Amino acid sequence: MKLKLDLQKCIVAGECYYNHPRIIGRDDESGCPEVLVQDLQTDDDIREAHEAAEVCPAQAITVED
Ligand code: SF4
Repeated sequence: MKLKLDLQKCIVAGECYYNHPRIIGRDDESGCPEVLVQDLQTDDDIREAHEAAEVCPAQAITVED
């Protein structure tokens, strides 16, 4: 499974990198989120990715097969 981030939709609300800094970081220059773990391999990776997708107010995060 893969974690995808659509920066065109992102409103930089920060929920993802504040709550899930292990899989989504914050680019220091732009302030935008960046995916740190794209290939979701462990149960924790998948759980956190789904949680990040659920809390994103802009539906910018998706988990794909
Ligand atoms: S939670 Fe969504 S809108 Fe907020 S920074 Fe992350 S991707 Fe962007």
